[in-house]
Amino acid sequence: MPQGSGTVPLTVAVVGSGPSGFYAAASLLEQNDVPVRVDMYERLATPWGLVRSGVAPDHPKIKAVSSVYAAIAAHENFRFFGNVDIGRHVTREELTERYDAVLYAVGAQTDRRLGIPGEDLPGSESAVDFVGWYNGHPDYAHLKFDLSGDRGVVIGAGNVALDVARILCSPHERLARTDIADHALEALRHCSLREVMVVGRRGAAQAAFTTAELKELPEFTESGVDVDPAEVAEQPGEEALSRLVKRNLGILRGYAANPLPAGERRVALRFLRSPLEIRGDGRVEEIVFARNALKVGEDGWVTAVDTGERETVPTSLVLRAVGYKGREIPGLPFDERRGVIPNTNGRVEGVEREYVAGWIKRGPTGIIGTNKKCAAETVGQLLTDIADGSVARHVRAGDPFDEIESWLRGRQPHLVTEAGWRLIDAAERSSGEPAGRPRVKLVITEELLDVALERRIA
Ligand code: NAP
Repeated sequence: MPQGSGTVPLTVAVVGSGPSGFYAAASLLEQNDVPVRVDMYERLATPWGLVRSGVAPDHPKIKAVSSVYAAIAAHENFRFFGNVDIGRHVTREELTERYDAVLYAVGAQTDRRLGIPGEDLPGSESAVDFVGWYNGHPDYAHLKFDLSGDRGVVIGAGNVALDVARILCSPHERLARTDIADHALEALRHCSLREVMVVGRRGAAQAAFTTAELKELPEFTESGVDVDPAEVAEQPGEEALSRLVKRNLGILRGYAANPLPAGERRVALRFLRSPLEIRGDGRVEEIVFARNALKVGEDGWVTAVDTGERETVPTSLVLRAVGYKGREIPGLPFDERRGVIPNTNGRVEGVEREYVAGWIKRGPTGIIGTNKKCAAETVGQLLTDIADGSVARHVRAGDPFDEIESWLRGRQPHLVTEAGWRLIDAAERSSGEPAGRPRVKLVITEELLDVALERRIA
């Protein structure tokens, strides 16, 4: 047992209910050295973070990880407090006052910008917003995207770029079997785009796609994938590339070797182009790219260099998918450039008893499983700090841990507990059943609360 704590369980508030929050909760609850109680706080009425509102709806196997989170939430020493905004309903200080430790797993809640002229024209949007919209995140459900043109352009060569290109090009019948938000399903029914161009600033070998996502494109979209053979031609020194890059290049070369018939709907993957300017009279009409060459630095890092050549591409929709970015938590240190909270193995620098895990700790990289190791490292640090006394226990015997829920209800009468979330989950699943869909999402907070709090009058 930690020093001076008697049999009082260690109490930890986990802020954020995405993968890293749940993996942190699991690491705490599954260890046997110290009895622990975990309260998970979530701003939304629903848990699961990006598994609910980031992972593409046509990737149900990835979303299936939510059953792991449901099992963690069923632990007797776990409580879920949804619809609580830290900073609004309760302060950061009030949490540190009531728990031995507070672990922030709040992800990267905003997007990176391109910083080019025309970026704010209507029709130039963030992929983060588009993803939130098609996934039914309440903050984005009201957005409108004009999908009426011939060509869309997605900036960035990562998995989010592939996700949005795939959703834009997917046959409607395929999307209709998923848990995509109904408003997005309806808008995509009328999508007239014939080409979605995904554009990387560096070369094909530097793209951040994972192999499975690259490979599934033709099957999932039932469209061709267009790759310029010159952009994926063999280069000297390829044997030194990683296995993943070699596999990806193989797939891209396969696409390049099969030119598409003119007019066939396509996802076009293009490389060595940086966006310079988005132009249009009152809305997006075209985008100008600089054509790049590659330069290898002394450290081996490959950068894109402007050749001076320009290319103008007509388009009505530009989605920037150039990465997520973390937001500052007032009172905690923040690295503005990287968008992370500075930390050592998850222990926030310069403060006591506060920790971070996931994207706010290490930046927006990796797949869902990456967060398991990341959260375990943070929890390891937290437990070591407590065990060796370098961080003093705060909660004492007799402290009213069980009264936290009533304290919270005083601040947020519309508190959503695990039981409330289960009502939402059951209602969504049963509305999906008749259409063979995993669920039909409720996307308006008031409607979610009606179900969670059983407010609806039959
Ligand atoms: P990402 O993998 O970091 O890709 C961002 C892309 O944007 C990179 O190609 C980057 O190019 C480019 N970029 C950055 N700044 C740019 C600029 N100013 N102009 C032009 N291009 C720019 O980020 P992401 O796609 O947002 O994905 C985030 C994480 O989630 C990744 O780890 C990803 O694998 C994961 N994810 C996984 C899945 C899945 O497993 N199915 C789905 C979605 C997301 P440079 O390399 O040149 O910087």
